[in-house]
Amino acid sequence: MAYFSYHTHSSFCDGKENPESYIQEGIKKGMKAIGFSSHAPLNSDIAWAMKASDVDAYVTEINRLKRQYKDEIEVYLSMEIDYIPGVTKSFSQWKKSADLDYTIGSVHLVKSGGHSDFWFLDGPDTNYSEGLETLFQGDIRKAVSAYYNQIIEMIKTQKPDVIGHIDKVKMNNKSQYFSEKEDWYIDLLNKSLDAVAESGTVVEVNTRGVYKKKSEKLFPDDYFLKECCNKKIPIMISSDAHHPNELLNCFDDTIKYLKQIGFEQVTVFHKGVWKKENI
Ligand SMILES: [Zn+2]
Ligand SMILES: [Zn+2]
Repeated sequence: MAYFSYHTHSSFCDGKENPESYIQEGIKKGMKAIGFSSHAPLNSDIAWAMKASDVDAYVTEINRLKRQYKDEIEVYLSMEIDYIPGVTKSFSQWKKSADLDYTIGSVHLVKSGGHSDFWFLDGPDTNYSEGLETLFQGDIRKAVSAYYNQIIEMIKTQKPDVIGHIDKVKMNNKSQYFSEKEDWYIDLLNKSLDAVAESGTVVEVNTRGVYKKKSEKLFPDDYFLKECCNKKIPIMISSDAHHPNELLNCFDDTIKYLKQIGFEQVTVFHKGVWKKENI
């Protein structure tokens, strides 16, 4: 099958190179489409997100590259937008103001009651253990439930086109705090699956945890993927590349694995429309 990746970070946020170098590498790799998805701006002290003052330059640059490379590769403009209830700007506002082709909704920062700090799921695992302790009194079930409730609320209220790394909360767990086979955890996955199925949103199969060796399994994990297959929930593969070399990391193995599960197609974006592509 042809290669596509719709979740890419460049130097406009925490990615390593300018967008054009990803496009040139994508063309070399024979990719059909590449979508840029800088982290939408958050508070100014969050270094991994794009600066609000850079949004116009980002939009202008990606649109310029779209035109320049239109005969060689499809280029799309998106953002990976965080959802924090009562804090973040609505996805529809971002989509409209930047004229995004699609939105990727992700939760990296989990809210706990009235706290002004958030539980940060990414980065070094000390963030995870400290946040768990200070914001959730070490109660992993409470913390993980807050994460999935935030995901479900995002799906229902923000209606992202794509859900990014839906079980990211497992990344720094590494079986230290809970087992993904526990009933309460499966119950949260099932609730999330129901919300996804009802919304028609696309579930991203994100390979980054595997190739960065931060997670043994894909985001999402086996159980969730099998249920997506049973429920005919659309999926797409993305590398969440932060460097041009990472654009297609683990794609072939992931395609093989998805076929084993029973998937025959993935979703691709083409000229404003989501379509199915055989794998
Ligand atoms: Zn992310
Ligand atoms: Zn990302």
